[in-house]
Amino acid sequence: MVESNDRIIVQKKSDLKFLEFRNLKTHQDILTHCFTTRLGGVSSGECTSLNLSFNRNDSRENVLANYCIIAGAMGVDFDRMVLSHQVHGNKIRYVGPEDAGKGLARESDIIGCDGLTTDVPGIPLVTFYADCVPVLMLDPVKKAITAVHSGWKGTLANISLEALRLMEEKYKSNMEDLQVAVGPSICKNCFEVGAEVYEFFINKYPWCDIYIDRCNEKYHIDLQQIIKRVLTDYGVQEKNILLSDTCTKCNSDVFFSYRGDMGKTGSLAAIMMLRETI
Ligand SMILES: [Zn+2]
Repeated sequence: MVESNDRIIVQKKSDLKFLEFRNLKTHQDILTHCFTTRLGGVSSGECTSLNLSFNRNDSRENVLANYCIIAGAMGVDFDRMVLSHQVHGNKIRYVGPEDAGKGLARESDIIGCDGLTTDVPGIPLVTFYADCVPVLMLDPVKKAITAVHSGWKGTLANISLEALRLMEEKYKSNMEDLQVAVGPSICKNCFEVGAEVYEFFINKYPWCDIYIDRCNEKYHIDLQQIIKRVLTDYGVQEKNILLSDTCTKCNSDVFFSYRGDMGKTGSLAAIMMLRETI
């Protein structure tokens, strides 16, 4: 069970449930956003029911129907949604007006990009998750957004830092203006890894031991806290970072969870769109 709290808002429209993050919701005059749950779609079996990925054990027809449901509930244009193509890397793609619809309404040349960014209103950016960490960024001053998919490999490749540098260079964002929401993803207790992955993290982030627990020969890594530290070290204000503190695996009745469903699962999505303002 996932309910509204001081960080997230659970929106309900008949069977459909999706989340909003309170710090981003504050800027609803310029931003529409959501993080989906697995509830309220038409898919069945392991993809029950709001699977939003075409790369799962689901029919194209079902996935398209699910997009219609969530686009309708959010009030965004289905035909303009742009989908990422994720490979656990750190590439971020700028989305311009000419990209509208890529990956859903039409063919896409967006390949191997775990992040999407835009300063163009009216184009919903869609990124995918099932335990990996969603990092959603809004610059309310320069009116620009970036969404990145940061699983453990993306976190090692430091895709969040790539996003901050991109926003600084492309939009002249001031770090102290940024609002960041870190969405539902696997918690420290559920994210157990072996020594090899632990070594990768210690070598990349020598300070990260405080976010890791050891249990026998296994390690439990807090990806959300490591990402938060990367953000604050680069100048994002701690008060502007919202950690959803919601685990996809602990709540696999509400969310698709790769580990919770032992690899047979659907895909959640984060959807962000700048609104047209007058
Ligand atoms: Zn958990």
